[in-house]
Amino acid sequence: MRKTLAALLLIGALFAGAAAGQTAATAQGPPREAGEFLKPDLVELVTLDRSVRLDIRYATADNLVGRPVYPEARAFLQRPAAEALVRVNAALRTHGYGLLVFDGYRPWSVTKIFWDVTPPDKREFVADPAKGSKHNRGCAVDLSLYSLDTGREVPMPSAYDEMSPRAYPSYDGGTAAQRDARDLLRRAMEAEGFSVEPNEWWHFNHRDWARYPILNLQFSEIAGRFEL
Ligand SMILES: [Zn+2]
Repeated sequence: MRKTLAALLLIGALFAGAAAGQTAATAQGPPREAGEFLKPDLVELVTLDRSVRLDIRYATADNLVGRPVYPEARAFLQRPAAEALVRVNAALRTHGYGLLVFDGYRPWSVTKIFWDVTPPDKREFVADPAKGSKHNRGCAVDLSLYSLDTGREVPMPSAYDEMSPRAYPSYDGGTAAQRDARDLLRRAMEAEGFSVEPNEWWHFNHRDWARYPILNLQFSEIAGRFEL
């Protein structure tokens, strides 16, 4: 099994480099990690709950890179995290909200692109590819709320991926309604085993993140591979 996974990772790295035109940049590949990990079991969120909405900015030019870095607008998480997210979505329904997901599992090659395009003084907001991201493990999710009444995204104290102190979950500016929405999202996520990133109100890590390996599979390689 380990051999199979290693082969998949290698294939993923090769595909990622070719797809993104970054063959040279990704030549070093994902960091090698020692230890035993759980078998990846990435699940596409909308297959568990169709009321979880997607706004996959990395599949559009509306992101920090300024061009699409995902060929498809899809979101995956490891199964326990995905199931926890469905419970969060159900809990928020009683408040009149649904979850709006910006990103879930992210191939390592994309983390490398983010690092390379981000100025050094803004790199607190992106993961170091030498260490990998919890998104690469399929255990981190970027998300916000949408109103069940209007279908619109709920205003928060900052935009998604805004690289400023307004992105901090502790930021006390903005309107009371914006802070209340941000804090409601956080409480609902924490109740199901997620913790918020200290400088990004939209980024949550599932408690099992350290048990999964860094992956570099593209979305097209995931479908059907892990789902039972
Ligand atoms: Zn994130």
